[in-house]
Amino acid sequence: MKAFLKETLMRGLNFVRDNPQVIYTFFLVVAIPLAFFFTGEQFLKVARENQDKLERNRIGILEETFALFAGEYMDDAPSLNARIASLVKENETIKTFQVLGLSDGEAYPIIASMVDEEVGATVTPDKLSMFLFGSVMGSPRETFATSYFIDGERYWRGIRAITASSSPQTVGYIVVDLSMAQADAIARKNIRNAYAVLALIIVLIIILLVRHARIIDYATLYRRLKEVDQMKDDFVSMAAHELRTPLTIIRGYADILKGMADIPPAHRENIKRIETSAHDLAGLVDDILDVARIQEGRLSFTVAPVQTKELISSVIESLVRTAQEKGLVLRTELAETLPVLNTDEKRMRQVLINIVGNSIKYTEKGEVAVRAFTEGNNLVIRVSDTGIGISAEDQKKLFQKFYRVKSKETEDIRGTGLGLWITLQIIQQMKGTINVESIKGKGTDFIVTLPIS
Ligand code: ADP
Repeated sequence: MKAFLKETLMRGLNFVRDNPQVIYTFFLVVAIPLAFFFTGEQFLKVARENQDKLERNRIGILEETFALFAGEYMDDAPSLNARIASLVKENETIKTFQVLGLSDGEAYPIIASMVDEEVGATVTPDKLSMFLFGSVMGSPRETFATSYFIDGERYWRGIRAITASSSPQTVGYIVVDLSMAQADAIARKNIRNAYAVLALIIVLIIILLVRHARIIDYATLYRRLKEVDQMKDDFVSMAAHELRTPLTIIRGYADILKGMADIPPAHRENIKRIETSAHDLAGLVDDILDVARIQEGRLSFTVAPVQTKELISSVIESLVRTAQEKGLVLRTELAETLPVLNTDEKRMRQVLINIVGNSIKYTEKGEVAVRAFTEGNNLVIRVSDTGIGISAEDQKKLFQKFYRVKSKETEDIRGTGLGLWITLQIIQQMKGTINVESIKGKGTDFIVTLPIS
């Protein structure tokens, strides 16, 4: 039994953990309305207590003033009756107003009353009156009042002693009953209305929840998608890592083969193909690992003084052969002195290789020119080509992850669409900017601006 309870509890907890929307629903449909209800009840309780205090005072003042008058006119029943009649006229909640004489031990004579026929008769006190008479006899200068119910209607009864004007002797009593029916009816109506509004709100919430259950589904779906996306990222970066070792081995053996003397020329061509493919694959692996590092915010930056002129020259040198192989001119126009930047040399090289490499890759004939100069507090590097160009529409999406322009000119050019995204992330980390100016069919300029300090 205990194990069963524990298991049910655990299953319930797991369900709530996997479906947090249950908690929101519970709050909206149960907790918030209950909170409203309890706060309302609390408020009503305080209001009732205050109203009771008010009624007690009201009956006290009414009887006290009347007792002062009655003390002098105890023998003048018509005056007492007239006074009672005028009071009753002003206050329609008064249901009983009697002036009683002293009891003969059992009954009290009615000396004056709002009901004429009662005058001269006697009244035997009921339980409630007996209790109040008891209290009044103990303290004849106070009014004692209590509430009671008849047929669900609330009443207040107050009894006070009348003392003679000349002596503290009790000469009679005032008995007043006030009906709370009117006040209670208004309060009941208000409470009913408040509960009706609360019920309406709950119904509306339920309707909204049912209608928008899809939003909750989407939230769950979104969470699952994010999990799957994370799993995919983890898998891709793990696979990229694992590819590195076999790639190094392939490239190593291709290198050994290339160095062998007795390789027929046809096979030499094949070895070159192996080398190029392995080189491309290594580039892709590096890009994927960089993407993973950037997304996890752990792209390493080793900051040190970098001689930018030397760096740009060495990047150009490393790409000259690629450009020549395509019949392109790779030109540099570097200012005489270029600043020393405090940055990560490896990352800056990566940025330049990517941009200049792209210019070579996407230019069929003409030239690629790299200009560098200082402008204000910035180093500006402008890479211009006479290549295929990029339309204004494509320029807007160029720096998105995996974005590649799809056109006749690019269909045979291999790439992943990751290079410019990575480049932008690196430049942003360096607090720099990258812009593109291009005319389709004419050529493209990439302008990198890096702050000097
Ligand atoms: P890819 O691996 O496809 O080269 P990049 O992120 O480096 O990825 O570039 C994204 C796209 O931008 C490319 O696919 C290409 O269409 C376009 N592109 C980049 N540089 C140039 C350029 N110099 N001239 C024309 N198009 C370019």
